[in-house]
Amino acid sequence: MKHATKLAAAAVGIAALMGSAVAAGPGHTVTHPGDTPSRTGGHETFTGAVRHDSIARRDDLNPFTVSVVTFEPGARTFWHTHPAGQRLVILTGEGLIGTPDGKVERVHPGDIVWCPPGLKHWHGATPTTAMSHMAITAFKDGKNVTWMEEVSAEQYVYPETKKE
Ligand code: MN
Repeated sequence: MKHATKLAAAAVGIAALMGSAVAAGPGHTVTHPGDTPSRTGGHETFTGAVRHDSIARRDDLNPFTVSVVTFEPGARTFWHTHPAGQRLVILTGEGLIGTPDGKVERVHPGDIVWCPPGLKHWHGATPTTAMSHMAITAFKDGKNVTWMEEVSAEQYVYPETKKE
């Protein structure tokens, strides 16, 4: 009995320590769909219908943005570069990634695309299929993207239809 009492006292002590440890820092936060309204991609940076859902804004310890971008069929970004690069995680549909050498590559859910710093490129849906990706984009000198000209109809090519 005496042994059991000591055990119980120890358990209470440990629980108190754990409680104080938890209370020492801020707790986790949970956000929910609808907390941050969706935004429409602007026509000065996107062609077609694009929806933008923010996952995380940057802060001092996490100097990058995370967002989910959904492109309707035919929709794509303008040409652009990322000063610190960008990682794209393809979530749904079928997408296209294009570079100035004329190469257009198809990407699918599960694919992860790394766009290195300074590489001019565009990304978007195929002409017939929507695509969503998560974009993780770090900052350099306060910027995470430099926008350029629109991707023309001639440049926006589905690879299988491209003439070699
Ligand atoms: Mn990009």
